[in-house]
Amino acid sequence: MKWFINFFCGVLLILPLGCNQLPTTGPATVSIIHPASGHCKYTIGPVNLTTLENLQKMSGKVGRVLHSSNNLDDNSNALVSGEGLKSVDTEFFKSGNTFIPANLDTLFAASLYYSVEVGYLLTKQIEPSVDLASVIPNLRDTRIVHRAIRSSGQLGSRAEISDNAEYLSIRSSPYVLNYFFSYPTEEVKDIPLGLNLGIMNHEFSHLIFQHLFYEPGIKRNMDVGSSKPTTNTLAALDEGLADYFGFLATQDPGYFLCSFPLENRDLARPKYFNSTVISGIEGRAGEYFDSHEGGAVFAAIQYELGQNIGNHQVVGQSLIKLMSNILTCSSTSSGNTLNFNFGDIAKCHLGILSSDSRAQQAARQLYQKYLGSYGVGL
Ligand SMILES: [Zn+2]
Repeated sequence: MKWFINFFCGVLLILPLGCNQLPTTGPATVSIIHPASGHCKYTIGPVNLTTLENLQKMSGKVGRVLHSSNNLDDNSNALVSGEGLKSVDTEFFKSGNTFIPANLDTLFAASLYYSVEVGYLLTKQIEPSVDLASVIPNLRDTRIVHRAIRSSGQLGSRAEISDNAEYLSIRSSPYVLNYFFSYPTEEVKDIPLGLNLGIMNHEFSHLIFQHLFYEPGIKRNMDVGSSKPTTNTLAALDEGLADYFGFLATQDPGYFLCSFPLENRDLARPKYFNSTVISGIEGRAGEYFDSHEGGAVFAAIQYELGQNIGNHQVVGQSLIKLMSNILTCSSTSSGNTLNFNFGDIAKCHLGILSSDSRAQQAARQLYQKYLGSYGVGL
């Protein structure tokens, strides 16, 4: 296609209107797949990619889109070295001021970049003191992997992962490498996970938590997540924050269902920390622990709080503060030791909301209602 466009533009140069060459640098208006208003409604249309620096390479301030040229788990060093990752071979044509992807891979890649940009801008808009480009010095090197090829399970079974998305941090001095994986689509309802803006922003929330909680905690030699139930509580909290962040990005509390309609992940459906959820977190339910279950309860509480006070911005801001405050709240930390359950997290959250007595009161009532035995004494 490129040779065709170049040839076409070459011919057009002799015409009075001239021909716009495709730019390679700076922000651009690009047609991508993004949500329209309404549950699970998506459309293809132009958006401004304001952090984009290189259209052809789909790279900019928040990362770069790559694809796997081979299985990234074949070589244990591949994710550190980036070996096996290639730039997506994008092709666009221009219509007015908008760049139109000329093939499906380009459309997918541009849509993936957009979803990560939304996460970055949303964080800054909700909590202006948190600019992730400052918090994460190598944010630009974030690797957003389209059609990621990786293996699940034990070595030997080697099933390739499909129908999933993932955030992964890899320690590689001097920085942490940040990966977003969009795996190939096999069997999802309606919206592939990499195109589901809510799912990708769920993943983006894991990046925020990594850099506002885990990394500062590790630097301060905090005992981050080394014992139950704190380990499981942390994992469930991470998932709950992520489910809520996905809602903030889409404004659709049922965004998860657009890809997996049978999962109990609709934020608008109230859920409880019942004895089954609590025994899973406390580690009494055997080896298997599903952090998404407790997370979904926490996310539904936050959704109801935002609905009750008519302001999800306040809730989102308090949760971004909560991520870092867990390291210092008296209910969750003592010296270098973290030890807490969801009741202790709720206390920390209520402290953050103390400047807004209406929000604090509403949050206290919801925690008392849904936290089960964790809510005693709030
Ligand atoms: Zn998650």
